[in-house]
Amino acid sequence: MQLTPQEFVPEANRDEPVSPSLQNLESRRHQSNPVLTPQELKRLQRFGTVRAYANGVRILEAGHTTYGMLVTLSGIVAINRYDGLGNSALLVEHGPGEFTAEVAQLAGRPSLVNAHAVGAVEVLVIPPENLRALVIAEAELGERIVRALILRRVGLIELNSGGPLLVAPAGHPSLHTLQSFLTSNGHPHSLLDSNVDQQAAALVEYYQPKAEDWPLVVCPDGTVKKNPSNAEMGRCLGMLPELDEEKVWDVIVVGAGPSGLATAVYAGSEGLSVLALEHHAFGGQAAASARIENYLGFPTGISGGALAGRAFVQAQKFGVEVAIPAPAARLLCDQYPLRIELADGKRVQARSVVLSCGARYRRPALHNVAQFEGKGVFFWASRIEANLCKSSEVVLVGGGNSAGQAAVFLSAHAAKVHMVIRGDGLKATMSTYLIDRIKATPNIELHTHTEITALEGDEEGLRQVSFRCNDTGQEFHHEVCHLFLFIGADPNTAWLHDCGVEVDEQGFIRTGFDVNKGECRAKLEQGARPPEKPQRAALETSVPGVFAIGDVRAGSTKRVAAAVGEGAAVVSQIHAFLAALPINT
Ligand SMILES: Cc1cc2nc3c(=O)[nH]c(=O)nc-3n(C[C@H](O)[C@H](O)[C@H](O)COP(=O)(O)OP(=O)(O)OC[C@H]3O[C@@H](n4cnc5c(N)ncnc54)[C@H](O)[C@@H]3O)c2cc1C
Repeated sequence: MQLTPQEFVPEANRDEPVSPSLQNLESRRHQSNPVLTPQELKRLQRFGTVRAYANGVRILEAGHTTYGMLVTLSGIVAINRYDGLGNSALLVEHGPGEFTAEVAQLAGRPSLVNAHAVGAVEVLVIPPENLRALVIAEAELGERIVRALILRRVGLIELNSGGPLLVAPAGHPSLHTLQSFLTSNGHPHSLLDSNVDQQAAALVEYYQPKAEDWPLVVCPDGTVKKNPSNAEMGRCLGMLPELDEEKVWDVIVVGAGPSGLATAVYAGSEGLSVLALEHHAFGGQAAASARIENYLGFPTGISGGALAGRAFVQAQKFGVEVAIPAPAARLLCDQYPLRIELADGKRVQARSVVLSCGARYRRPALHNVAQFEGKGVFFWASRIEANLCKSSEVVLVGGGNSAGQAAVFLSAHAAKVHMVIRGDGLKATMSTYLIDRIKATPNIELHTHTEITALEGDEEGLRQVSFRCNDTGQEFHHEVCHLFLFIGADPNTAWLHDCGVEVDEQGFIRTGFDVNKGECRAKLEQGARPPEKPQRAALETSVPGVFAIGDVRAGSTKRVAAAVGEGAAVVSQIHAFLAALPINT
């Protein structure tokens, strides 16, 4: 998934695209820098505390300060972009009635910019929890503030300001993993080519990275890391907060795809304390969709990234704690409260757990697929990948709707898309509108009765893909550097076995009436009627208090709208479950 700046902008759609140009940012300046009236400032007083700063005093320090929002009451606050290497440049000055914050401050994450007082300054400091209370309590003002926060994040992404610096020779293959992690999570960052930039070259000279140390990463607080994992990156940016092992959450949501984000938003908005754990990036599979055309209310379509980006901000507005990357490694349900063990061994506790961990892309049975993942082999087609294969030929395997969408999307960038399927056509697996579009696209060639048999390449990435036509037995070799795999997905349920959550033959989680189906069928065969009502809530699993929604649930409709619907519906079932618990549980 790639979350582009314009996708973050509320109400921006394909009819009214937000150009990534600075000129366009300029035209939105009044929305990203609203000036509050004296009456509005008065209403804000109850949410914050007044602080005074003398001329030149540092108010915000990138990578450190977690103040929330600062509203200038008198004087001027200068906001500077800062890159962790000590380079700083003025971004904007906030006078009386203007405020300093962007999306990260909703969740109490560290500032991405530096700020200092110009002259004597008085500011109203509104801490994150009060900022969230304010945007909910003051509906119209809240809308203007949230819009400004989002636009400012957009601005930072556009200007490559704030966030980490990734230092490596341009195009170095190691950059893709981190870049994809940051872009997927809508986090600003910038690249420094160590072959060109003097500061980057000096850093390389000092740290002497070995082959496995690329890229060097300079965190906003100035810390330098060698080829950090996503988890290290998340910690350096505050996306992966220190989680309190003693706290008992009302709900822990595992997976921040469409279904998990829906639960997070609805549960958060209804006053439940919610922790959302996400393995990689918010948006799940949907975020890989270049354009979702069947989601209600978006007649011109919306990219999965745009939908997910908005839901993510919405969840934060309702006080949901989102931890990324935080893969759940075990669910422990031998005790109550329920506990989830994270990959780093930490345990978090909850009164209820929602499993919204979706599905994982299937890999073909080729021994070296993993070697090329991210270096030519992709499971989605976003703008990052599309740019990588500009004007070259690509191979795409799969015949489902997601394969069709990706083929059409890539055909606008690649010289040619070879679409490879085992069957004799697309009719049984793809929507008619997509089949028609593929037929109408001259640079998509469909290879039926064909499968890939081998991948070849080197450390830099994929170089060649071999196919076999199963009808003729003929082998083909194509010199292509980009292979897109859309061959289905398996449920992310392997981590659940400790708890005994009941799953079906394919590993999808059974819920509600399905959990008892075996028993019911047996009774039915003996002439007994099945129970009138399921013995548990419709989305509850075989383990009380553990719910499953979205693609990971057996029998679910594998669509964004269905996932979102289940994410919303499960919240009333959680309420009922919590209400039935003994007091003080
Ligand atoms: C390329 C593509 C295009 C698509 N296009 C459309 C479309 O046009 N219209 C449509 O309706 N549907 C479309 N779909 C299907 C749709 O995206 C899915 O049905 C939907 O995303 C399911 O949502 P979910 O939240 O249930 O699961 P997912 O989207 O799979 O999200 C699950 C999340 O859980 C996380 N996770 C997994 N395991 C763990 C763990 N142990 N700990 C923490 N987190 C974990 C994952 O990282 C992921 O973010 C498309 C799918 C793909 C792949």
